[in-house]
Amino acid sequence: MQTFGNYINGEWITTGDTFEDRNPANTDEVVGLFVKGSVADMDRAAEAAAEAFPKWAAMAAPNRGAILFKAAEILDSRFEAIAAEMTREEGKTLPEAKGETRRAINILKYFAGEGSRMGGHLVPSERDRVHMFAIRKPIGVVGLITPWNFPIAIPCWKLAPALICGNTVVIKPASASPLSAWRLVEALHDAGIPKGVINFVAGSGATLGAAMINAKPVKAVSFTGSDKTGKWIHTEASKRMLRIQLEMGGKNPTIVLNDCDFNASVENVVNAAFFSTGQKCTATSRAIVEDGIYDQFVAALVERTKKLKTGNGMEAGIDIGPAVDEAALKTILDYIEIGKKEAGAPLCGGNRLTGGAYDKGYFVEPTIFADVTEDMRIAKEEIFGPVLAVMRAKDFADAMRIANGSEYGLSASVQSSNVSRVFDFVYGMEAGLLTVNLPSAGVEYQLPFGGTKDSSFGPKEQGPAAFDFYSDYKTVYLKY
Ligand code: NAD
Repeated sequence: MQTFGNYINGEWITTGDTFEDRNPANTDEVVGLFVKGSVADMDRAAEAAAEAFPKWAAMAAPNRGAILFKAAEILDSRFEAIAAEMTREEGKTLPEAKGETRRAINILKYFAGEGSRMGGHLVPSERDRVHMFAIRKPIGVVGLITPWNFPIAIPCWKLAPALICGNTVVIKPASASPLSAWRLVEALHDAGIPKGVINFVAGSGATLGAAMINAKPVKAVSFTGSDKTGKWIHTEASKRMLRIQLEMGGKNPTIVLNDCDFNASVENVVNAAFFSTGQKCTATSRAIVEDGIYDQFVAALVERTKKLKTGNGMEAGIDIGPAVDEAALKTILDYIEIGKKEAGAPLCGGNRLTGGAYDKGYFVEPTIFADVTEDMRIAKEEIFGPVLAVMRAKDFADAMRIANGSEYGLSASVQSSNVSRVFDFVYGMEAGLLTVNLPSAGVEYQLPFGGTKDSSFGPKEQGPAAFDFYSDYKTVYLKY
C-alpha cells in the first residue's frame, strides 16, 4: 500500500500518521494512505511559499507558463492511470473521470498560454506627455481548499491561474479524494516547478483550514465546498482581512416548457440530475415543468431513469457510481425519507441498493419525487445526490418565479424553442451559470464560472475572470 506524503518546500514528507483513501464502490479497497498534515505542516508550507514568492513572481510569465505546459504534457502521459485512480477514489464512472482529467490538462494549457497574453490597461492621459497604464501583480501566498467531487479539475482551475499570475500556493484537498490533486502536484513537481512555489497538505479540514487562514504569510483563500464551511471561512478570514473567493452549494432548476424538444429535454434533465450520482454542484435538483406537458414529461423521465445502470464506475455500461462516502449516503437516504413524508412515495428509486457487489459500496437508486411544492425541504435544501424534485408550473412566468425562489443561484437551465422565452430566462434568471437546451451541468474553462446569491462570494473562477481574484493592479502615471 503506497503512502502519499505531503509536499512542502519541494520535498515529499512521507512520515507521520495516515488516513485512508477508500473506494466508495468497493470499501474493501484502500486506494492509498495519506499523511495527515498538522498545524505545523501548514505553517511550514505557508512559510515555504512565502520564501519562494519573490523569485517566482519575478520570473517572466511566459516562463511560468512553460512549466504549466510541461505539467500538462506529463498529466497527458499518465492520463489513463490518473482517470482510473479518480474513479477508484471518488466513484464517478471511468468516462466521467477521463473527461475530468482531460479538462484538467486543458485548463493547465489555457492558463499556461495566458502567461504570454496577460495584459493590463493602457489608456490615453488627459495630460500632455503623460503615459498611464495599469499592470497586474500577484497577491502573494494563496491558500486553496477544494472539495471531493471534481478532485482534479477544481484544484487545477484554482492552481493554474494562481501560479500563472505569480502567486505561490498551499493547497489542501478534500480527504475523500486527495489522490487526484496529489497527481496534479506530482506533475508540477516533475515539470520542475521551483521548490516552495506549490505546497500540498492533506488532512482534517477543520484543523488545516483554521491553520491556513491563520498562517501569517497567507494573503488570500479560494474555497469550494459546502455553505457551512464557506460561511465559517468568511467569518474567520475576515478577521485577518484576507481576500476570499467562496464557491458553495446550489439547488439548481431546469425549467421545461411546453415548446421544448421533448426527447432532448428528457435526456438533459436525466443527465443533469443523475450523472456523477447527482454530486455536481451544477446538477439539476429541481425540474420545473410547465403544466401542458407535465404528466407526459414526468412519465418519460421516470421511464428513462429506470433504464440507468448503477454500479462500480470501472465497469463498462455503468451510468451512475456510488455516493462518495458513508456520510454522503446517509444524507441522501435521510432526504429520501424526508421526501417520502413530504411528497409521498417516489415515482422511481428511493432505496439503497443492496445484494452482491452493492453491499460493498454506497449505492443508491436514482430517485424522482413528483408534485413537489415550494414549501418542501426537498425543494429548498441541497441534497447533493441522485434525487430529483419535479415541480409543476402554471406557465413560464410561474416557472421563473419558482426557479428564482431559492436562496441559491449557481446554475439554471431552460428547455425551450421559443427565442423570447429563452431571452427572458437569460435576463431574468438569478444564477451565475445558465444553459439553454443543454443539461444544467457541464461547463467549460474558457468562460467565468461561479454563482450568485448564497452560492458564491467574491470574484468568479476560470476564463479571463480568474485573474480578478489571483492578481491585483499596480497603476502607473509617467511623465516623459
Ligand atoms: P466541505 O465544505 O465539507 O469540504 C470542502 C473542503 O473544505 C474540504 O477540503 C474540507 O476538508 C475542507 N474543510 C472542511 N471543514 C473546514 C473548515 N472548518 N475550514 C476550512 N476547510 C474546511 O464540502 P464537500 O462535502 O467536500 O463538497 C460538497 C459541497 O461542495 C457541496 O455543497 C457542493 O455544492 C459544493 N461544491 C460547489 C462547487 C461550486 O463551484 N460552487 C463545486 C463543487 C462542489
